[in-house]
Amino acid sequence: MIIMKTKVARLTKKNWMTVIKEAADVIKAGGIVAFPTETVYGLGANALDEEAVKKIFVAKGRPQDNPLIIHVADKDITQYVKEIPPIAKQLIDAFWPGPLTIIFKKTNLIPDVTSANLNTIGIRMPNHPIALELIKSSGVPIAAPSANLSGKPSPTTLEHCIRDLDGRVDYILGGTISEVGLESTIIDCTVYPPVVLRPGGITLEQLQLFDHNIYLTTPYDLKDETPKSPGMKYRHYAPIAPLYLINEEDSMEQKINMLCHKYVEEGKKVGILAPDETKDLYNANAFIYTLGSRENLLEVGQNLYQGLRQMDEEEVDLILCETFPETGLGIAIMNRLKKASSKK
Ligand code: AMP
Ligand code: MG
Repeated sequence: MIIMKTKVARLTKKNWMTVIKEAADVIKAGGIVAFPTETVYGLGANALDEEAVKKIFVAKGRPQDNPLIIHVADKDITQYVKEIPPIAKQLIDAFWPGPLTIIFKKTNLIPDVTSANLNTIGIRMPNHPIALELIKSSGVPIAAPSANLSGKPSPTTLEHCIRDLDGRVDYILGGTISEVGLESTIIDCTVYPPVVLRPGGITLEQLQLFDHNIYLTTPYDLKDETPKSPGMKYRHYAPIAPLYLINEEDSMEQKINMLCHKYVEEGKKVGILAPDETKDLYNANAFIYTLGSRENLLEVGQNLYQGLRQMDEEEVDLILCETFPETGLGIAIMNRLKKASSKK
């Protein structure tokens, strides 16, 4: 357990310039800072400073073979990468700033600890004014995984960061909700055809408009001894209580109500994650968290981690959750739900 003095700053229109300057000074001095982005909150350090980057792994309890994504405030990344394949150039032009991380072959400027000894590096330009300003003021690329304790759902609010990291990091700043609410899409452009290693805010369909050969790796293919994206082998995004995904196509509500009834009878506290359309159909004895409309998966994505964390707060014994169609943003949503679920 690390105990250090963490400064927490809630951003307002008045204080934001001062706060960002202070946080940038912490980054420059080799400290670690939790900050908002449009995907989830990140825990950042100077990506070029080995000692600073090591602190991120310690604070999160993150395995050292899980590489970090570096965040830039500018599309010129030539210092950090050996080559920019034409498709990567097109994707940068189309989706940066935004929730797309691109994997490149790295130059020696990037320390091995940042890339977890891989010869590649994931880079993203976030679409968030505070994140961009923090990177610019720091004057260095910021290596940042999600600002949660390893294994916990990623944080989408300042409160989530405080809960996980108070006493473990130098500085936490924020105040707004992360709009996308899910981690970035990761695409590996060091191979052809480029492969999506993690689905996220930019959908497969959007990427395929640039090259129809782009494909998604089979999720959860953990038999592969050296997974392409090392983070994929870890159980992620998990709430404390077991989560069961109910995928009966026609009778999801009936199945959930039946299971809920059974568990309530056994004296268990049941949590249900449901969309607007069905939330009122469920047993009133359960704790129901509404994810948003099935017709608006942006909303469901934005609320997902908040919902999982709320289940921890309510100390439910188990969680029952509806499933969503695996197209568009539904692919990323179901990817996270499957990782959070007990049935893997
Ligand atoms: P996080 O920042 O917490 O969302 O975690 C970063 C994710 O990006 C992990 O799943 C990593 O395995 C993946 N990642 C980062 N860098 C690379 C890379 N060079 N090659 C493959 N996957 C990467
Ligand atoms: Mg993470």
